[in-house]
Amino acid sequence: MARKRPHKGNKAHIYIVPLGEVPPVAASIVAANIETVVGLNAEVLPPFPSPEYAYVTLRSQYSAGKILNALESVADDGVLKLGLVQCDLCTVILKFVYGESQLGGKTAVVSLCRLMSRDPAETYLRAAKIAIHETGHLLGIGHCHAPDCLMVFASSLEKLDSLPLRFCPACRYEIARSLKCYLEGI
Ligand SMILES: [Zn+2]
Ligand SMILES: [Zn+2]
Repeated sequence: MARKRPHKGNKAHIYIVPLGEVPPVAASIVAANIETVVGLNAEVLPPFPSPEYAYVTLRSQYSAGKILNALESVADDGVLKLGLVQCDLCTVILKFVYGESQLGGKTAVVSLCRLMSRDPAETYLRAAKIAIHETGHLLGIGHCHAPDCLMVFASSLEKLDSLPLRFCPACRYEIARSLKCYLEGI
């Protein structure tokens, strides 16, 4: 399916969308790291309301899938969107997720809930890593098995903390190719 050309400059674009109360510094750090590591222009939008529509009473958590669907309607301009929340996320099959995205799609979401550290800088670094990982999925990149790549699936904070803030050469190449296609409107 054809993507519309991004609307600003000559770089592909992603919106960072705080949903509910999210520290502004968290959104800024996520945006800055996506720009540096992925190479997208990242713009932080003003906060949207807390995603109460996604609350799953039986699990006392929030449905990541419902948030992804809601983000689709934020703006129909072909720009990628990454939601940032403080609430705990789940999916139909997983008890919790740090983040969720549509592979090759347009929307992703990251939760700070389970990334919390006593050191806020560490919390935000973790959020940036998850956000970059989910953005990689938006660009069509699957999970990687290289030891030093952010596309490795991190099921624990220990694993996440061990990953460097970068992609392996193979994923880096795929990301660059995907960004080029995105800019060409393919
Ligand atoms: Zn993943
Ligand atoms: Zn990789």
